[in-house]
Amino acid sequence: MHRVRHSRHVTNLENRPTPQQCHAHGGTGPLHELLEPRDVPLGGLRSMQVRRTLPQRALPMVGAWCFLDEFGPQQVQMRVLPHPHTGLQTVTWPLQGQIRHRDSLGSDVLVRPGQLNLMTAGHGVSHSEFSVEGDPVHAVQLWVALPDDVREDPAAFEQVTDLPVWEAAGVRATIMVGALGEARSSAHVHTPLVGADVALDAGATATLPLEEPFEHAVLVLDGTVQVDGETLTPGPLLFLGDGRRELTVSADDGPGRFLLLGGRRFEHDLVMWWNFVGRSHADIEQARAAWSSDAFAERFGEVDGHDGVRIPAPDLPNVRLSPRRRPGRA
Ligand code: MN
Repeated sequence: MHRVRHSRHVTNLENRPTPQQCHAHGGTGPLHELLEPRDVPLGGLRSMQVRRTLPQRALPMVGAWCFLDEFGPQQVQMRVLPHPHTGLQTVTWPLQGQIRHRDSLGSDVLVRPGQLNLMTAGHGVSHSEFSVEGDPVHAVQLWVALPDDVREDPAAFEQVTDLPVWEAAGVRATIMVGALGEARSSAHVHTPLVGADVALDAGATATLPLEEPFEHAVLVLDGTVQVDGETLTPGPLLFLGDGRRELTVSADDGPGRFLLLGGRRFEHDLVMWWNFVGRSHADIEQARAAWSSDAFAERFGEVDGHDGVRIPAPDLPNVRLSPRRRPGRA
């Protein structure tokens, strides 16, 4: 097993999104790679900063997880106006504060800590996300790439409020999607996947059962956690590769909390640009054109309550978007 430390600090302005070209990658065996987040302003001029740890040039995906943003804790208002998605599921997981989700399916719900919002874009959906006034917000938002057989399906939305918990002495893992041991979430995903929020009391140690074929990654959300021989604090994503049956974690320096993500290697090449996940430049071009046309609602519907205000699609870059292999690996 080799250890690699990547350091990359790039500001990616939301109005000039960098195309993310993600090629399906092969099995790696156990790895230990620390990937630094980059700070991205979201939501216009008086924006909030998010810390993005997926995708990365060195790591486009972990299983079907293809996007990971963490924001807060901060007092600033989150105001993400209606915008479209294709080919993915959004997972919204508040750690603190409440977020109001409205979408083109007619959903209008608050999501609170301990609850999961899961929106399946399929062929097309649009939504808005606003924090509730006065609440500081700390949350993560993830995207899950949809496999070929369902990526053009109609959109769907679910909120899951009865998530199962995997427990050991001093350790509570809330299962957002997939399973840890016998604890299985009812949230509807389309590839073998796990996402868990793991809280450790000070001094606790636990060995988490992992699916050996999955690749896994860890992001510390709070405090300090020892994972795979490394003392981790909030910031970097630790990629663990695949081929692990278990993961020993401990909180030697006080309580800690982290996100465990995993999944079976995603089989399809992806092209990600702005809020769209597709398989080709043409997929992205079509989605952008549809959102930019007067007939946008035919594909993406319309979100009530915003007087028709929507986030416009940025210009496409002057290069053809094509999938590209993960560097350094077959
Ligand atoms: Mn969104």
